[in-house]
Amino acid sequence: MTAAAVRFLAGRVTLGLLALVVSALPAAPQAATPAVDSPARPALVVILVVDQFRGDYVDKYGHQWRHGLRRLFDEGAYYTEAAYRYASTTTCAGHATIGTGATPQTHGMISNAWFDRALGRDVACTEDPSITNVSYGTTPARTGDSSIRLATPTLADEMRAQLGVAPQVVTMSIKARAALSLAGHRSALSTWFDGPRGFVTSPAMGGPGRVPFLERYVAAHPVEADVEAVWERSLPPTSYLYEDLGVGETGFGAAFPHRLTAPPVDGQVDPSFYGTWQMSPFADAYLGRMAAAAVADLKLGQGQGTDFLAVSFSALDTVGHAYGPRSHEVQDILVRLDETIGTLLAELDRQVGRDRYAIALTSDHGVGPIPQQMQALGLGGGVVDRKTVSTVLTAALGGSVLDSNTGSEIYLSRDAAAKLAALDQHEWDAVRTSLEQVDGIARAWRTTDLLAGRYEAASDPMAHAARLSAYGGRSGDITFITDPYWFPYRIAATHGTPYSYDQHVPLVFAGPQFRRGRYTATASPADVAPTLGRLLGVILPAADGATRVDALSRPPGLAAADEPPQTQEGRQASTSP
Ligand SMILES: [Zn+2]
Repeated sequence: MTAAAVRFLAGRVTLGLLALVVSALPAAPQAATPAVDSPARPALVVILVVDQFRGDYVDKYGHQWRHGLRRLFDEGAYYTEAAYRYASTTTCAGHATIGTGATPQTHGMISNAWFDRALGRDVACTEDPSITNVSYGTTPARTGDSSIRLATPTLADEMRAQLGVAPQVVTMSIKARAALSLAGHRSALSTWFDGPRGFVTSPAMGGPGRVPFLERYVAAHPVEADVEAVWERSLPPTSYLYEDLGVGETGFGAAFPHRLTAPPVDGQVDPSFYGTWQMSPFADAYLGRMAAAAVADLKLGQGQGTDFLAVSFSALDTVGHAYGPRSHEVQDILVRLDETIGTLLAELDRQVGRDRYAIALTSDHGVGPIPQQMQALGLGGGVVDRKTVSTVLTAALGGSVLDSNTGSEIYLSRDAAAKLAALDQHEWDAVRTSLEQVDGIARAWRTTDLLAGRYEAASDPMAHAARLSAYGGRSGDITFITDPYWFPYRIAATHGTPYSYDQHVPLVFAGPQFRRGRYTATASPADVAPTLGRLLGVILPAADGATRVDALSRPPGLAAADEPPQTQEGRQASTSP
């Protein structure tokens, strides 16, 4: 980066703040934004999320990758120890953290769903009953989704607010909670896959109209073209770790090859296809091609400002839930995603220019192993018996435990909740001890105690992680953490704990603004939004994450002549060989 480029970058900070002030004044002229004239300010920022990409997969399976994942880990600034700090390591919480730089206690997306006392039922984190989504498939949408429950702005939101030239914001995923939480509150295009309804958009994001690009793309590329596809391993079977037929695996067919569904009869696609397709590498490949087409069609990164693209690849998660982290299926999804991301990066190089975009790669959470496999190894594991939990709590508090499928949160009837609130610390300790004697429950807290900061001073990482996940009015009356390798409900494999298999994920920044290397510093996916924002002079008022200044090619705001000399010790402190 030249000295002029660094001054240009520093100037962007002032311009960004100016834009904030200017946008508050009616009829004021927009702040002028210089044209892109150096690699200091990217023309496009890209966030790639690989759903359920566990940190150790890079070490265990990375030797199988040759394309896009290989390039990012080799050429980027790779934080080997990145991890979430909070307990509820779920998809909605993770994507909201990546998008906003905040933790659930701030952004409010505590989980994929929580119990809504006013409605008397669970609500999905993106559910919006005031609208109906727009379907691009053959069946009309019946439900609505938006970011009404996202309590903080995303990086993309702040780019819209602070940059002189409004960015085009484009996000896509198989899941609504990924596409919406990465975008925030408005976008040119946020789309996700809704089964037989095909790809859908939300009228809350860009208005009630149809997005012409998406209309054309899905018409020209129907997902049903994959209906007779067969998923076979792409490498020789001996290249995969562990066995194909693992104990406790579910999914569609235990072993390779996997046929998505029965062949169509009279042109009618079997409805099961829309479920299995999402659990296959063909969904990721489709998303990668659609992202490249969107970049071309909407000319992302080719205007006067900086555009925003986020893609969340979901197949690793759906496959990981069914086949577990030790499966050939998980390894093969990554081998194929490596190719999909390689193709997408090649398209970005061609369309935007290799030095004209900055990219972050990370994940929303990891995953725990299938409990039966851990039991077979003599390492314990299991599923918490919710009936026993209910029996313990109703014996202590009366009332009832409400019917909710929200993981480690426990919601009580009003009379039981009132009694819980009235317990003094000694009485609560007795209830807590009974709960912690239930098989698979490690720790339990009253949410009111967490929110009141009762555990803030204690040196208690588990309580701190639970506190970072708690949000008033959404969290349960009681929240618990399972023992390692235990799940709070029955499923082949899942996530949602503060253990390293759920919290540790890869984090990579790449582009000319970053110094390649392996960084062993403490880091988190909450650092993605503040770090990319820093490249643009965009500030995030509610971020809990840090700006990764250790990975920037040059310290921001300093001309080259002012840069402090980099000592050899300094380099060793921030990078490992
Ligand atoms: Zn996820």
